[in-house]
Amino acid sequence: MHHMTLAEIARGLADKQFSSEELTKVLLARIARLDPQLNSFISLTEELALNQAAAADARRAKGENGALLGAPIAHKDLFCTQGIRTSCGSKMLDNFKAPYDATVVAKLAAAGAVTLGKTNMDEFAMGSANESSYYGAVKNPWNLAHVPGGSSGGSAAAVAARLLPAATATDTGGSIRQPAAFTNLTGLKPTYGRVSRWGMIAYASSLDQGGPLARTAEDCAILLQGMAGFDPNDSTSIDEPVPDYSANLNGSLQGLRIGVPKEYFSAGLDPRIAELIHDSVKTLEKLGAVVKQISLPNMQHAIPAYYVIAPAEASSNLSRFDGVRFGHRCENPENLMDLYKRSRGEGFGVEVQRRIMVGAYALSAGYYDAYYLKAQKIRRLVKNDFMAAFNEVDVILGPTTPNPAWKLGAKDSDPVAAYLEDVYTITANLAGLPGLSMPAGFVDGLPVGVQLLAPYFQEGRLLNVAHQYQLHTDWHTRTPQGF
Ligand code: GLN
Repeated sequence: MHHMTLAEIARGLADKQFSSEELTKVLLARIARLDPQLNSFISLTEELALNQAAAADARRAKGENGALLGAPIAHKDLFCTQGIRTSCGSKMLDNFKAPYDATVVAKLAAAGAVTLGKTNMDEFAMGSANESSYYGAVKNPWNLAHVPGGSSGGSAAAVAARLLPAATATDTGGSIRQPAAFTNLTGLKPTYGRVSRWGMIAYASSLDQGGPLARTAEDCAILLQGMAGFDPNDSTSIDEPVPDYSANLNGSLQGLRIGVPKEYFSAGLDPRIAELIHDSVKTLEKLGAVVKQISLPNMQHAIPAYYVIAPAEASSNLSRFDGVRFGHRCENPENLMDLYKRSRGEGFGVEVQRRIMVGAYALSAGYYDAYYLKAQKIRRLVKNDFMAAFNEVDVILGPTTPNPAWKLGAKDSDPVAAYLEDVYTITANLAGLPGLSMPAGFVDGLPVGVQLLAPYFQEGRLLNVAHQYQLHTDWHTRTPQGF
């Protein structure tokens, strides 16, 4: 039962082959047995799950149908869940029970999805390896000595290990696509504004976007359908109709123009990954796509710009965690300053503290123009590159990451080495564009992802291309040994 995709589960539930309650029990037992190896969950919500499953079964018994009705999922632990710990992977929020549901959580619950738990993540979504979590590192089910990627590493490891079919995640600089690539999943970062950020604990508000992590494009379509849409509670949410993603998966790729940026194939890219990317291009050509070389000349400036803008926004967003209103508070503060200093010093881990300091520095008088303003100008150039490219092509294709998943601890002493691994993903966040990563092969037994980018609100195009690719390849069906 645990091998089923969301689409297969929906059919099985509709045909009464099994109930949501039966499936939920199977998966909860599987999590109890296997997750100790992976550490992909921070909290399990068994009671809620069984109640939601029984309610979904009752709705189906009355004749209701729906792709998510009775489907088991989990939420990255930065989506607020009413009455349930929402930790953001931080000691700061270890004792925080959200007083309300995030819009994404509420929408999926209304569609009948069953929440099995809250997944592990890098602290405040800062990281690419899920090693900065207060709750410990997550292991990659493909090789337990390697990282699963981050920051949505818990969602990715759990779905890859067949503990559940799909999970929510968020992507500020790659945190959906990069863990998807590292664990052989399909993950979609929607257009900025497509999915409500209300109740999603903020890292960098102008870059953060929620989206689905699943094994197939077909399942990403189902989960995105439940997440997307205008939300008056989020002032950056966009009032655009949500297309029927599942209905558009079968469009022909005949004549689809694929752009491959020449800058992607630089010295930093593992040549074995480059080869797999070329293979994926050949597959899409066989399906009718036309390939063209393009250029994104400002791509080289994206990492420094991102690592100014994201920490700047983080330093502002995280100022609310002061030990006064909610979250961790130190013991016996001597005075107000001592309360702030010790609460924040004890509550935040080293990577979060590093980013707050970098951000506060970049925003300070005298440095603002030199760093923050400059970074914003680069952001515009990166966006302009994409706008020019999308005049010529329909999608942009390349590797999701320059290397496969690294070993746990390998980049501990060198945070910049980890930042450099984000080179292919962060440009989409700077520009606000949608991006998808899908399985494209293996290097040394570790999964490799190919990334597709599209113009604003063309999530449907990305899912269509990925679905057609998955009808003609079987990488996404490979299962990690032992799971
Ligand atoms: N690795 C990037 C960072 O550390 C992206 C993280 C994310 O997308 N949340 O900021």
